[in-house]
Amino acid sequence: MKKPKIRELKEAIKSLFSKPYTTKFPYEEHKPYPKFRGKPQYNEDECVGCGGCFQVCPSKAIDMIDDLENKKRILIHNPDKCIFCGECERNCITQKGIKLTNQFDISYLKNPDEVKHKVEHNLILCIFCKEIIGTEKHIRYIYKKLGNLAYSQPILITKAIENLNIKTEHEERLIPPIDRQDILKIICPKCRRISFIIDEKKEITKK
Ligand code: SF4
Ligand code: SF4
Repeated sequence: MKKPKIRELKEAIKSLFSKPYTTKFPYEEHKPYPKFRGKPQYNEDECVGCGGCFQVCPSKAIDMIDDLENKKRILIHNPDKCIFCGECERNCITQKGIKLTNQFDISYLKNPDEVKHKVEHNLILCIFCKEIIGTEKHIRYIYKKLGNLAYSQPILITKAIENLNIKTEHEERLIPPIDRQDILKIICPKCRRISFIIDEKKEITKK
């Protein structure tokens, strides 16, 4: 048998008189370090429902369900698929919509829903073709961010008009055909293009 080196002997004696590096969890409460990456948690006030976290998540731990009938978008975080990489937090457009907490004890007995966390948002759909435009909060967030520049985008102008409670005489007509006055309504880019083409065609016919 080889004799132990002096350095190894010194380490062995030192470890006999020093505290262990591991904690006594679960027999004692464990406090993670401040930068510990634990269970991500949505902040319902700061999340605008853009779906950015859902798109960047490498392990598909976030579900995004768009319920067109009830005009709702639901984002669900599944801790059992999460690898705690922090990409959702890093790429959140508001920087505060989802944050990694230091919660590490996320085991469950029977129901995985016990540890899931979700947020719900109101969806805005095109009034003609029912295509998803975005969430109400996301559109208002962009409107606020852009300031005066928001007036170059018809959907954002429409939201501003809504804030002022101005009603147009054509507001109640929500059925096709799409017409010129529909340019200033909540419609998707495709329907908006149709309204521009119809408008241009009228001009051409007049000439
Ligand atoms: S605001 Fe942030 S947390 Fe909310 S959906 Fe967008 S990226 Fe996710
Ligand atoms: S921490 Fe990583 S794996 Fe977990 S939800 Fe966020 S992006 Fe997905």
